[in-house]
Amino acid sequence: MINISDKKDCCGCSACASICPRSAIEMKPDVLGFKYPEVDNDKCVDCGLCDKVCAFNDNYDKSLNLPEPIAYAARHKEMFEIMKSRSGAAFVAVSDWILENGGVVYGAGYTGHFVVTHKRATTKEERDEFRGSKYVQSDLTDVFKQVREDLKNGLTVMFSGTPCQTSGLNSFVGKTLRKNLYLVDIVCHGTPGATMWRDYLDYLEKKYKRKIVAVNFRDKEQFGWKAHKESFLFDGFTSFTSFTYVFYKHIAFRMSCGNCHFCNLTRPSDLTLADYWGWQRVDNEFNADDKGCSLVLLNTEKGKELFETVKDKMSVIPAKLENVMQPNLEHPSVFHPKRLDFERDYEKYGFKYVLKKYGQEPLYKRAYMFVRKCGSKVLRKVGLNK
Ligand SMILES: Cc1cc2nc3c(=O)[nH]c(=O)nc-3n(C[C@H](O)[C@H](O)[C@H](O)COP(=O)(O)OP(=O)(O)OC[C@H]3O[C@@H](n4cnc5c(N)ncnc54)[C@H](O)[C@@H]3O)c2cc1C
Ligand code: SF4
Ligand code: SF4
Ligand code: SF4
Repeated sequence: MINISDKKDCCGCSACASICPRSAIEMKPDVLGFKYPEVDNDKCVDCGLCDKVCAFNDNYDKSLNLPEPIAYAARHKEMFEIMKSRSGAAFVAVSDWILENGGVVYGAGYTGHFVVTHKRATTKEERDEFRGSKYVQSDLTDVFKQVREDLKNGLTVMFSGTPCQTSGLNSFVGKTLRKNLYLVDIVCHGTPGATMWRDYLDYLEKKYKRKIVAVNFRDKEQFGWKAHKESFLFDGFTSFTSFTYVFYKHIAFRMSCGNCHFCNLTRPSDLTLADYWGWQRVDNEFNADDKGCSLVLLNTEKGKELFETVKDKMSVIPAKLENVMQPNLEHPSVFHPKRLDFERDYEKYGFKYVLKKYGQEPLYKRAYMFVRKCGSKVLRKVGLNK
């Protein structure tokens, strides 16, 4: 039976809990909200399925992979789609086709008050919630089983998520059902936990004494694509804050993110989507407006066919692999040396304490944000910035 003695060995994909024939595994959250499998020994019959299905290791399925991925720079032809997406809206182009052809799309959306959760969509309206990166680990409870049910019912399914989620799902559904399943992953830096995210929202709402009504993890309108700044829309005003600052400090990621097996070009999915940092290497004008550019990797024959079918929706330029490399295609994120202290402090003293100790941006950055905020208020007043 599955036994996680070191947190870095479990990405929380939930494949083990989903496959257990005795429902003996429960995914339980730790102090930061990362879920780990816990086995009820009274129910377990030692069948070994949970160990076998676990794909968070170097033996994940690579049987469908092309010798090497084929790379493209891509931007959706519709600017409004780019503005709603994190990069160049390749996700929308691909998922549109799946939905238009009677398929089902799974992706990261929200339940309740911005709880990041994987959900199922059969219409574009439902799918639209998945657009945009949410820099928090999404909840997968019962989602793998739902995907398997759809596949058994003969539906075409596209599942989009982190590579540890797609590799877990691939292992869970098995080779026969994989035929109608399109796996789409992202190049992945790592994910903070759900509890910290909830505490952060609580903290902001208390601070401003209002409810948050919308979250944008990368506000392109205000700051452009590469600045990577989030905004929170409250009832009546917008606040620019520093959750992504904590994200890029690599201090709050799941422990497995420092041990990630998917930071390479042998992807566990048919397609990989990413921000194309270094897009200038294919064409200096392609993303000159700084609204976002996708990197698309075609990893399997199936991925290649899918991309060929949808690529007319986008402007695309072939790219050489050596021109698309970025850190998380080469190695896992290197953790902040105080990662473990962060977790201990969180447990002992709570969110506000760690935010103060580890989460403050340097003064010059806070000053920059303040000036931008005042600037956009003035522009709005004179009607130049809506
Ligand atoms: C946690 C995280 C880390 C990332 N790290 C990098 C990186 O290091 N380098 C890089 O180039 N790109 C990274 N990205 C990917 C990038 O931000 C874009 O999501 C990607 O380029 C797709 O952009 P798009 O414009 O095609 O579509 P978008 O509209 O941005 O597509 C959103 C897609 O991301 C998925 N998604 C969103 N949030 C989550 C989540 N929490 N968990 C699982 N799936 C999610 C949705 O299901 C959907 O498939 C990361 C994304 C996330 C969520
Ligand atoms: S060994 Fe079998 S019964 Fe026991 S927890 Fe794993 S899958 Fe469930
Ligand atoms: S990585 Fe996935 S399958 Fe493996 S132990 Fe963790 S939750 Fe279970
Ligand atoms: S870095 Fe690796 S382990 Fe962490 S969320 Fe991303 S794919 Fe999963």
